[in-house]
Amino acid sequence: MFILNKHLKNALLLSSLLITFSCKNDQISTNSSIEISKPKEILQQDSDSLYTIKTDSLKHLSDTIAKDDHKNPIDSTKQYVYLTFDDGPYKGSKNINKILTEENVKGTVFLVGFNAFTKELKQNVEDYKQNPNVEIANHTYSHARNKYKHFYGMPEGVLEDIKKNEVVLDIHSRWVRLPARNTWRLGNRKKNDPVKNAIPAADLLAKNQYYIYGWDFEWDRNAQSLTAPEKIYDGIVHRLDQNKTFEKNHLVILMHDDMFNSDLNTEKLRQLIVLLKNNPKIVIEGISNYPTTVS
Ligand SMILES: [Zn+2]
Repeated sequence: MFILNKHLKNALLLSSLLITFSCKNDQISTNSSIEISKPKEILQQDSDSLYTIKTDSLKHLSDTIAKDDHKNPIDSTKQYVYLTFDDGPYKGSKNINKILTEENVKGTVFLVGFNAFTKELKQNVEDYKQNPNVEIANHTYSHARNKYKHFYGMPEGVLEDIKKNEVVLDIHSRWVRLPARNTWRLGNRKKNDPVKNAIPAADLLAKNQYYIYGWDFEWDRNAQSLTAPEKIYDGIVHRLDQNKTFEKNHLVILMHDDMFNSDLNTEKLRQLIVLLKNNPKIVIEGISNYPTTVS
């Protein structure tokens, strides 16, 4: 009996491995094999067995408000860059944690609770939490199970998925990024993704005191190899100088944790950070310091 249980457990872990959720691949939503490899019951079993449930949502709100009070003053002669990493935890999370520590710069991680399905991946989340240079944000629990049209068709379900992620990963911030939608809701400022179906969900989240961050520029991970850090740096400077950002002089760059699974790519992240640090006009900040009231 013990052996059978062990085999069953391994099979469940394997099925999880096959379908960790990631951003921006709308086409994956049409892949029916994903549904077959991960039935709903297993999803539920994973979340119940791997985590201690805590419910303290009011505390989350007060934590964010308290943090807002301690924002660093914004220098109008500077340009601010926010390094953001989506879809973690992955193997690459460990490398991101290491580089942010060694280069002593801030980064913000938008985590997906469903992806924390092994002891090691859960440890990566804990390591992020222990790092004073890392700010923890919410990218939903399920990442829409990569079925975005269905997901955004039920705004209440999106809100519940965000709340579930808060409980599962013990997230204490109200910073959210919507899966596969470059959508912003910051106070009275908003911007929608060209795909409009996330608008009702975004409005509902804003009404529930969440801050939704999109991105101004992406370090593309779909290429065969990562775009050179020098090119990404030039893209960042260009967008800031041309005022092609959601907020003038503030640029949010989107990356993904699994881009940095390899040592080679991890050094590319370091190279980008060093280029940014060597520009005296640029300041690297955490998302807690992004202006949410001025424009
Ligand atoms: Zn994502």
